[in-house]
Amino acid sequence: MNKIIVANWKMNPQSKFEVENILKGLSIFTKNLNNIDIIVCPPSPFVFIAGKVKNKKIVLGSQNVFYEKEGSFTGEVSVSMLKNLGVEYIIIGHSERRILGDTNDIVNKKILAVLKSKINPIFCIGESMRDMNGFYLSFIKEQIIEGLKGILKSQVKNIIFAYEPIWAIGSNAERGAVPQEFTEIRIYIKKIISDLYDIKTANIVRIIYGGSVNPLNAESFIKEGGADGLLVGRDSLNPKKFGAIINLVK
Ligand code: PEP
Repeated sequence: MNKIIVANWKMNPQSKFEVENILKGLSIFTKNLNNIDIIVCPPSPFVFIAGKVKNKKIVLGSQNVFYEKEGSFTGEVSVSMLKNLGVEYIIIGHSERRILGDTNDIVNKKILAVLKSKINPIFCIGESMRDMNGFYLSFIKEQIIEGLKGILKSQVKNIIFAYEPIWAIGSNAERGAVPQEFTEIRIYIKKIISDLYDIKTANIVRIIYGGSVNPLNAESFIKEGGADGLLVGRDSLNPKKFGAIINLVK
């Protein structure tokens, strides 16, 4: 299976011109790529622009979506609008969206709506802190069980699980995670999926790591941590750094 690298641009950049420049800057790194899926998730108003920049190696993603089909939901964006623009992956349950009000129930509704439209959810989970008693493990388990309510075994393989410990995300991160910490959670997620569905399903699902990924640590999460890919925030806005991450995974 291909490795996955997701670029989460968050609320950046501020202009159409910069969107085009970042994507053009990436083109030298994406040439001759065939074992990695690069998914770029721009802010909603720039999804259309990003789709216009021709690069067959880059797949379009979105950072969010609303679960209702259409209607009186001011400010929201529907799955079909995104699908219409060529979006193939949607990040759901990012910790920055959970802070703004996305509960496990809302996350579940979004995952269900996205799967129904044959788009792949990138389902983010992760604790805000680790404790010596391992309560963070029950927190992660609850996020997964509630997020997967009503999702069929046949649909789970289309979900990319992104483990993103909140304490390792962003410029204010306490510290970066280490590959062993990812491995532990990767095994734990597989166990939960195996209990909810079966071992075969647990073996198939792809689990990626996100949280201060940079050119210095990217390789270790894949090689030592066993990650199926990476979710990159800050460094995905810099074509040289993001390109270096692509080269390391390649
Ligand atoms: C993220 O927000 O998903 C993320 C991983 O950000 P960063 O790489 O900047 O820590």
